[in-house]
Amino acid sequence: MLELHDNTYTLQHIPIADLAERYGLPLYIYDADTMKRQYDNLTNAFSGLKMKVKYACKALNNLAILSMFRAWGSGLDTVSIQEVELGLRAGFAPQDIIFTPNCVSFEEIQQAVALGVVINIDNLSVLEKFGNTYSGSYPCCVRINPHILAGGNYHLQTGHIDSKFGISVYQLRHLLRIVKTYSMKINGLHMHSGSDILDAGVFLQGAEIIFDAAKNFPDLQFIDFGSGFKVPYKDDDVVTDIPDLGRKLTESFREFCADYGRELEIWFEPGKYLVSESGYFLVKTNVIKQTVSTVFAGVDSGQNHLIRPMFYDAYHRIINISNPSGTPRVYSVVGYICETDTFAWDRRLPEVREEDTLCFLNAGAYGFTMSSNYNSRFRPAEVLIVNGQDHLIRKRETMEDILRNQLTIDEKIVFAGDK
Ligand SMILES: *Cc1c(COP(=O)(O)O)cnc(C)c1O
Repeated sequence: MLELHDNTYTLQHIPIADLAERYGLPLYIYDADTMKRQYDNLTNAFSGLKMKVKYACKALNNLAILSMFRAWGSGLDTVSIQEVELGLRAGFAPQDIIFTPNCVSFEEIQQAVALGVVINIDNLSVLEKFGNTYSGSYPCCVRINPHILAGGNYHLQTGHIDSKFGISVYQLRHLLRIVKTYSMKINGLHMHSGSDILDAGVFLQGAEIIFDAAKNFPDLQFIDFGSGFKVPYKDDDVVTDIPDLGRKLTESFREFCADYGRELEIWFEPGKYLVSESGYFLVKTNVIKQTVSTVFAGVDSGQNHLIRPMFYDAYHRIINISNPSGTPRVYSVVGYICETDTFAWDRRLPEVREEDTLCFLNAGAYGFTMSSNYNSRFRPAEVLIVNGQDHLIRKRETMEDILRNQLTIDEKIVFAGDK
């Protein structure tokens, strides 16, 4: 956890300024203790059930972190064949990986079958192809869209009626007809209603719809409730009450299992909940620029490294590592990318001076994994702090990385047509 003593910010007793000094900026830092705390919070809330966590690795997919989750007993949620391969390299057993693709080619699904992972299908035409190819020889899970409305940003919602995700619960009869025609084995039902579900009520509402549908599927082994747990971004943010959700959902899941006649496993696929708060993104202030309307703090990074503010309007708390007790002033914190590139408007920060190190909080989820080489910039290094020790888990990129796959053509060919 981030601590402030004697004007020094530390993580697991390591001064953040030292990490900035040693590894250079910009830099992503992850605190393993925070990930473990979140993992334990969730598993403890469902200790009365056969519960499994499938960490959604698109949030943060460094191999060192995947291996850590595996060591804690987690499985993996993946959305591309490349993520499946990363998971296998991190040592996950195929049966502990669930593949939940959307709009991928059928070949990609066949590759995942060949690797032996759990397949989650979210489209009737794909289900039909799957049945036609494998019949009952390879079971699959189906993703149901119960059309409950989670909170949060429209971009983050996947449960609405226009959503491209899942098979609508209104298409259940058609779904069942396909399953019967091809003698398919459905081993799981899945729902994932997008990010930022606030209260247990929304989950329970979705759960009831899934429980109702489940009566039609005799071969189930698990119900997967996806994710969407809300974490705090601002000081006064309301967050999902996990113990409360645990109590209520455990009760209704028990009732469901009694009805169903067998005890099934309950799965969750959190990404953000497990890693968001563990991540810190450090940048250096290059310039302070006073304009007629505002004071800009321009930093040595941009939406190429942390796109969430520009892409989702996400709010990230910012702290000034170099000057914690400075007199607060109002800044717009902007990046160096040559287009609108704003991290924060009108933010009160302890006085920011050129060269000061700023730190974005909640940078663990969808930070590094959504970064790019836009403006031909290098992606940052990543450091993991575990048991009081910092470890470099990804090197900063170099010009070699930018050039790696580029091929030039002979100028003679370019100018051949000019004669
Ligand atoms: C993205 C995703 C998740 C994780 O969502 P978070 O909001 O990061 O917890 C889980 N399941 C599926 C299928 C996803 O696509």
